[in-house]
Amino acid sequence: MKKAVIIGGGISGLATAFFLRKKAEEANKNLRITLLEKEDRPGGKIRSIKADGYLCEWGPNGFLDSKPQTLDLCDALGIRDLLLRSSDTARKRFIFSGGTLHRLPESARSFFTSRLISWPGKLRLSLEPFAPGPPRGVDETLAAFGRRRLGKEALRKLIAPMVSGIFAGDPETMSLKSCFPRIAELERDYGGLILAMLRLAKKKRRERAEGKVVSSPSGPGGVLTSFRNGIQELTDFLAASLDSDTVVLGEAAVAICSGKTLPYRVHTEAGDHDADLVIVAAPSFAAAGLLEEYDRGIADILREIPYASMTVVCFGYERDAVEHDLDGFGYLIPREEGLHTLGTLWDSSIFHNRAPEGHVLLRSMLGGACFPEYLELPDKEIVRRVQSDLATTMGIKEPPAFVRVFRHERAIPQYTVGHGDRLRALEERLAVRPGLIVTGNSYRGVGLNDCVAAADRAAEQGVRYLLGR
Ligand SMILES: Cc1cc2nc3c(=O)[nH]c(=O)nc-3n(C[C@H](O)[C@H](O)[C@H](O)COP(=O)(O)OP(=O)(O)OC[C@H]3O[C@@H](n4cnc5c(N)ncnc54)[C@H](O)[C@@H]3O)c2cc1C
Repeated sequence: MKKAVIIGGGISGLATAFFLRKKAEEANKNLRITLLEKEDRPGGKIRSIKADGYLCEWGPNGFLDSKPQTLDLCDALGIRDLLLRSSDTARKRFIFSGGTLHRLPESARSFFTSRLISWPGKLRLSLEPFAPGPPRGVDETLAAFGRRRLGKEALRKLIAPMVSGIFAGDPETMSLKSCFPRIAELERDYGGLILAMLRLAKKKRRERAEGKVVSSPSGPGGVLTSFRNGIQELTDFLAASLDSDTVVLGEAAVAICSGKTLPYRVHTEAGDHDADLVIVAAPSFAAAGLLEEYDRGIADILREIPYASMTVVCFGYERDAVEHDLDGFGYLIPREEGLHTLGTLWDSSIFHNRAPEGHVLLRSMLGGACFPEYLELPDKEIVRRVQSDLATTMGIKEPPAFVRVFRHERAIPQYTVGHGDRLRALEERLAVRPGLIVTGNSYRGVGLNDCVAAADRAAEQGVRYLLGR
């Protein structure tokens, strides 16, 4: 019987174990899988905490249904019926700018009537089809792309908040091709974003007229989807679907090295695990530490991927204490506004059961690549700053009835300029280490869908290696 060791029990490691078992069974291959997780619970960044009738998400609050990966995984787990789609109201997203919350325009008409972007800014944006093409051979930053195609105002008020909403990142350092490959593709294939939108809308209309089923995502990128008891249900079900001796909690891998009887040996605090196949689904900085002795070159590349930290603050209020209608998803705040928070999600508007009857739950994010110092602030100061921002943005004067502060050190990998080259160099080095695979959110996407897609690829590669193909 062949042996596989997976390191890391977040969504990436758990999904890898799930796919690996399935693919091995389909290939009639006997495989013993051991998944090592250093914490005493599976899930990694995914954790749903119930307290005082509130349901607080520690990290992600769902996945988007516009990509199939997580939905397909839910089907395979038989838990599709348990999914909870965000409310219709969550389509409405806002940007805080110039002292007001502006609804993010979703159509050409709402774009022209919106006061978010000034008239000169709108004119500049409408000239997007005539913008110069991408510079050749350059890994362009998101900021350079924004200035080139959409203008400085759109960069500050639209692109930068979007980058902080997804990556907690700084657009001046992040790579367009690595963070949003689809946008780079649209520019290349259609000559511009507006042209791409028009052509794709035309294509959809034609497909509809031909009777094809065409998705119409509500809100940018689809509908946010979770579970009644929070997104942790996903990783709980995944862990429960694996054999009882597969997931080993509270056992941290310490080093990966060559084995004596099998190709690899994983040292842990509790002993050794010999393996034919090792898949590292821990963050790249942790993977670097594990591989330091075995392959310094791989470790050096992994260590170059920077991370941004984040602090998540949940505030619960009696409904009457908040005058704002909370009709929407929440808002992001451009850096120039000079506030502390990156944005606030109206969690109990997105999923109605996140607060007790007659109460609301708001979730604010602080820190990220532009404000690393926030991780060091004491809770009291963090709470004071969030309260001050909520007074400015939404006019909330009352102190919250419920408070939780969650800190994520090295929360989200930053796909900075050069990330694509780093991945190519990593692949080259891994190619001479057959049976050693890395996966997770450090490489090709941080969303849950991306992690599940990467897990599927890692499992496929692992099974092919074991089958000698
Ligand atoms: C605040 C926040 C909000 C987010 N919101 C969303 C969202 O709404 N939607 C979305 O799609 N994505 C969101 N994301 C991104 C998404 O949550 C992550 O990209 C994803 O959960 C990462 O999963 P992972 O398994 O790759 O890594 P992790 O969840 O970090 O799991 C890695 C695991 O490896 C373990 N590990 C580390 N070292 C070792 C070792 N030596 N031995 C054994 N185990 C080890 C860790 O303990 C951890 O459990 C958010 C992220 C954050 C931080």
